[in-house]
Amino acid sequence: MNAEIIAVGSELLLGQINNTNARFISSQLTELGIHIYHHTVVGDNPRRLLQAIEIAESRADIIIFSGGLGPTKDDLTKETIAQHLNVNLVQNDQAMASIQHFFDVRNRVMTDNNKKQALVLDGATVLTNRHGMAPGMFYETDKHFYMLLPGPPSELEPMFQFEAKPLLASIVSDGEQIVSQVLHFYGIGESALEVEVSDLLDLTNPTVAPLASDGEVMLRITAQAESEIRARELIEPIQQEILQRVGKHFYGINDDSLSSKLVEMLIDNKLTIAAAESLTAGRFMATLADIPGVGEALQGGVVVYNEEMKIKQLDISRELLEEYTVVSSQCAEAMALSAREKFDADIGVGLTGAAGPDAHDGSPAGTVWIGIAIKDTVHTYKLQLSAQRNTNRLLAVKACQNFIIQLLSEQGYSKLKNS
Ligand code: ATP
Ligand code: MG
Repeated sequence: MNAEIIAVGSELLLGQINNTNARFISSQLTELGIHIYHHTVVGDNPRRLLQAIEIAESRADIIIFSGGLGPTKDDLTKETIAQHLNVNLVQNDQAMASIQHFFDVRNRVMTDNNKKQALVLDGATVLTNRHGMAPGMFYETDKHFYMLLPGPPSELEPMFQFEAKPLLASIVSDGEQIVSQVLHFYGIGESALEVEVSDLLDLTNPTVAPLASDGEVMLRITAQAESEIRARELIEPIQQEILQRVGKHFYGINDDSLSSKLVEMLIDNKLTIAAAESLTAGRFMATLADIPGVGEALQGGVVVYNEEMKIKQLDISRELLEEYTVVSSQCAEAMALSAREKFDADIGVGLTGAAGPDAHDGSPAGTVWIGIAIKDTVHTYKLQLSAQRNTNRLLAVKACQNFIIQLLSEQGYSKLKNS
């Protein structure tokens, strides 16, 4: 089975919003083992929407629409599909009641154009909208499946999870279960990882697929079998094989992130952490604070963007900065030690560098120094990044988190308890 997503909305074409619905639906379809060969975006124009539908029908089994189910004149997805398939639009009483209820609880009078939202393709399976008014639809012909979903992500995402996904799973699986496991790696490039596991990428069940984003690489292992247990049994040996080859760079599975992994390790080992941040300006700490429970580990820290503040807030000597500059191993080390002492933590972190686009004190854009004070030693690391300013700042945070995870594992602190 293969699918095509047609996102309808002129605002997508005008660059006013991102097509996050296509991204969301794609990731969900991948979990179901449904291949997606095309994403289409088309404006609120019936003629061009019709063209898009005809093209999609020529190359996909399942066509999934997002947007254009609302009450206004420019919402014409279902009208266009109804005309094309020569199917009537009929009122769905349950949808009508739910729309009426939507207005009643808000104490508002329903305008007539809202009734249009209760119209569905005759013969379609109606998908309940728990967070809005327009219901979704699933319609089957001899040749194709059509899935119509509302545009707002807050409506589309739960509707997909609870209503659409089980329907799609039942048409593709023949009762089989599909299980996926994602392995996360840091510190190895996508191409280097691919070389290490290239023979595994040709497997058919389970399949192994690489994904990359923001300096991280992931491998998704997906198996299909008559039961979930059997699918997991197929995944297990392949996972072991992968870890044997590139386990050095592995840090977590499925929903793990570098921050969640680091916070988990700190809490498990009863360690506290503090940071002094220059180029990242608080991003390291903010990323840790995304993780619930971090209060047990994160003591606090300072943003010392300006050179004078490094001297005043952290008591770093002026002579040190004059001799080595702020973009130096010495400065990162002094920041880490001072953060640890002032915030009374087990681990002190210092992040300094030239985020770009300009060089700083003779260091080219993208030069980053990271200091990590742990036990009796301070470790310093240099990165030479080459991305845009904000990506450099993000990569500096991720690299720093990865270095701490590595250091803690080298020092015998427990790692990867759930793998
Ligand atoms: P409504 O009842 O709100 O009009 P609708 O089903 O008619 O919903 P649209 O009018 O196409 O959907 O889009 C409504 C809003 O949903 C857009 O303004 C936008 O905020 C969001 N949206 C639409 N399409 C997408 C998309 N592909 N990705 C992310 N957001 C989207
Ligand atoms: Mg609309």
